[in-house]
Amino acid sequence: MPILNFRRRPQNELERGGRSRARADQTDPEISCPNCHRSWPVSSVWANYNTCPGCGWHYRTGARQRISFTADEDSFEEMFSDIVSTDPLKFPGYTKKLSVVRAASNEKEAVVCGTASIGGQKCALFVMEPQFMMGSMGAAVGERIVRLFEYAAEQELPVVGFTVSGGARMQEGLFSLMQMAKTSGAVLKHSEKGLFYLPVITGPTTGGVTASFAMEGDIILAEPGATIGFAGARVVEQTTRKPLPKGFQTAESMLEHGFVDAIVPRNRQRKVIAQLLRLHTGGVK
Ligand SMILES: [Zn+2]
Repeated sequence: MPILNFRRRPQNELERGGRSRARADQTDPEISCPNCHRSWPVSSVWANYNTCPGCGWHYRTGARQRISFTADEDSFEEMFSDIVSTDPLKFPGYTKKLSVVRAASNEKEAVVCGTASIGGQKCALFVMEPQFMMGSMGAAVGERIVRLFEYAAEQELPVVGFTVSGGARMQEGLFSLMQMAKTSGAVLKHSEKGLFYLPVITGPTTGGVTASFAMEGDIILAEPGATIGFAGARVVEQTTRKPLPKGFQTAESMLEHGFVDAIVPRNRQRKVIAQLLRLHTGGVK
């Protein structure tokens, strides 16, 4: 299993929805890899599951793209898309920010939920959206996740979930923080029915999402190089006043210390997830 030793960096051309800095008249513009610094046509990066064809660097990927990479064709049926954030605290600028990110991401919330089949295995699926306030968890994200787990428990379905998140959404204060307990309760109820939950942690997954449903899976997978942590590395370093070990908060370090069970590159995820789902069917019987 390839383990890539690098840290994720923010924004690239693909993360801006495929809009490249390259000339607009180019039909297949090139983007450069932030890891190996080689340039590749966008089409070849997409064909490689939005990873670098040379070094395997995993570009950050939107929810809908992930669904197309993972779920069987046309099998995804979205649920709970009418649940959206409000501005309960009248936080300055939040309402405007919500409308800006909705337009930019083409999503109404930071998580997309529904049912799908993966390699023929039916499951409930949630995928967090990095372009929507870096997948931050407000009340609507928490509610969508909870309802998905409740639906899966009722229908006796396993849950597969891709996480990417900066943590709790500060604009919603305690309404946001309480989602950690709320989602954890729903995960527990699903688990008590003997049903399987498989999170795939992608970079970055931090804060309240790491401290709740991202880490509560029966088997926990991660993408190569993903940043996984609670507080950010800089905050930890400034608080402890100690230098951090090499590879701190990387998926590779989490694997070494037993917090994740396997690192699975994106081009193998569909196969591995389908296999794990097959092995864990029939938990309620
Ligand atoms: Zn590369």
